[in-house]
Amino acid sequence: MTVARRGAHAAASYLQWRSRHWSEPRLARHLQRRLGRTLDHAKAHSPYYRHHLPSGPIALGEVPRMTKAEMMSHFDAINTAGLHRDELIEFRIEQERRGSTDLYPGGYAVGLSSGTSGNKVLTVLSARERSRYAILLWARSGLPAQLEERRVLFALRTNNPAFTAITALGVELQYVDYFVPVPELVDLVNRHRLNVLAGPPSLLIQLAEHADAIKGPVEAVITYAEEIDPSTKQRLAETFDAHVSEIYQGAEGMLGFTCTTGNLHLSEDTALIELEPAADTLGGAERVVVTDLYRRTQPFIRYELNDLLEVGGRTCACGSAFRIIERIHGRTDSVFLLAGIDGGEVRLMPDYVRRSINQASGDVIEYQAIQHSPEDIEIRLELAKGADEATIRRTIVANLEHWAGRAHGRIGRISFSPEPPARDPVSHKLVRVVSRR
Ligand SMILES: [Zn+2]
Repeated sequence: MTVARRGAHAAASYLQWRSRHWSEPRLARHLQRRLGRTLDHAKAHSPYYRHHLPSGPIALGEVPRMTKAEMMSHFDAINTAGLHRDELIEFRIEQERRGSTDLYPGGYAVGLSSGTSGNKVLTVLSARERSRYAILLWARSGLPAQLEERRVLFALRTNNPAFTAITALGVELQYVDYFVPVPELVDLVNRHRLNVLAGPPSLLIQLAEHADAIKGPVEAVITYAEEIDPSTKQRLAETFDAHVSEIYQGAEGMLGFTCTTGNLHLSEDTALIELEPAADTLGGAERVVVTDLYRRTQPFIRYELNDLLEVGGRTCACGSAFRIIERIHGRTDSVFLLAGIDGGEVRLMPDYVRRSINQASGDVIEYQAIQHSPEDIEIRLELAKGADEATIRRTIVANLEHWAGRAHGRIGRISFSPEPPARDPVSHKLVRVVSRR
């Protein structure tokens, strides 16, 4: 083993250790110190923050918030490496077109994520940040520690050089994008004897339909990029007879990981996470504001996410003091607005829509619910062969009426369309609950 790889393994072990053994006060001290350093660095090196942060100590509440749109419009002043937004975007688009994974001059990896609304978020990582991220993924992605040879099918929207670093840690990665036909994926898995499958749930479920054709054992399944329902998770675990872990991450980095007990924890030592109410009358869904505690080239400070989370306590059998994510509801722009029984509008969080459909029957393979107006919801279903479609449809309608009623709203007209569920043309994600009001 090389010195560099030994160092990376030691760093990964430490990350694993501290997620389980740090007490709450220890974590709080760490957050305070990292936040101070993050703000000091931004003040010293980012023209934007030099202008927007006062000198001297400052409380988090006094730091200005950052939206996705602001991040993009002030990108040139926010980043600390003198990089220019338009040049990076041009570089990344050209790179995607060529299918190459080279680095931007200066050794930066450039990412261009695209939300469903079509507005792009540019991300940039230095060599040091890439290696740190690779170690974090290695430590907390759910790769079984006892697994000697890790050969991973790694599905990404587009290949990004941020990820190639993982090969340096002794993990073999086979990249694919979401458009490789399933029989080709099966062939790839067999040819390279891949024993870990990593991808969005919508792709893994398709692969599960062809599980009989996979020759070798699958040791672990890792999901990300889309919300995963408990029923889908269970189906994957049973089909592949493997542990299924989930990573919760976005353009701003890893925000959550699955522990040995199977709970999803906030990655509280790498990101400071603030939660605020989101007018969820049925549960405790909250909006997320994140401050990355390690990124320097492109600071993410009090950055507002579109995600809605329900976060629970800190008690987990794994020993971690990091809070548990009870539920990822989905994106704020997936919330259904319904006509209120007492007038006005009420909000129905995406998770209730998902539950209404996937709990209707074990024969629901894939689905999508699209709200076109407060009075009009379209549902697309992909069902198992021989499924009782009429009963499933009736159950879905009854479930949706139930949750709408609990929220004091009316569900309106529900129509079932023959269209199959479709990926977003820009992000290539399968967004299961879509609001097009
Ligand atoms: Zn845990």
